[in-house]
Amino acid sequence: MLHLPRALEAALWDHARRDAPRECVGALGGHVRKDGFHALALYPLPNVAPRAEQEYLAAPDAFVRALKAMREGGLDLVGLYHSHPRGPAWPSDTDRRLAAYPVPHLIADLRGGVLRAFSLPGGQEVPLGRAPGGGPDRGGTPGRLVPGPRI
Ligand SMILES: [Zn+2]
Repeated sequence: MLHLPRALEAALWDHARRDAPRECVGALGGHVRKDGFHALALYPLPNVAPRAEQEYLAAPDAFVRALKAMREGGLDLVGLYHSHPRGPAWPSDTDRRLAAYPVPHLIADLRGGVLRAFSLPGGQEVPLGRAPGGGPDRGGTPGRLVPGPRI
């Protein structure tokens, strides 16, 4: 289970729409607990893949800065996300091949408006929990939104 506050999900969709038709990429910081991954912060990263409309590669220096910011804030890496501007909400062969972290990989399908998470490279779906810690409409504490590192 990946617990994703609604404010973070909204920020993820904003990022995906902003970068379209290129794929967006980013990281989630938070805590790993017995009941799953709890995302608390979102770190948009620059996609430096040569064919960014079909694949993603997080700028390594920006990714390292995001990991450092997490560590300094007492957070761990709890997820990675990227978008598929033309769908589907399903990992591609490349996504499986390049997966290097044992955290949920979120895929935002912009065409279908569907967000799903997977454990890669295996491909098992990771259920998304949208509460607690939801947006203002739920009276929860919105996730901290961290501005993307600049390259
Ligand atoms: Zn992909």
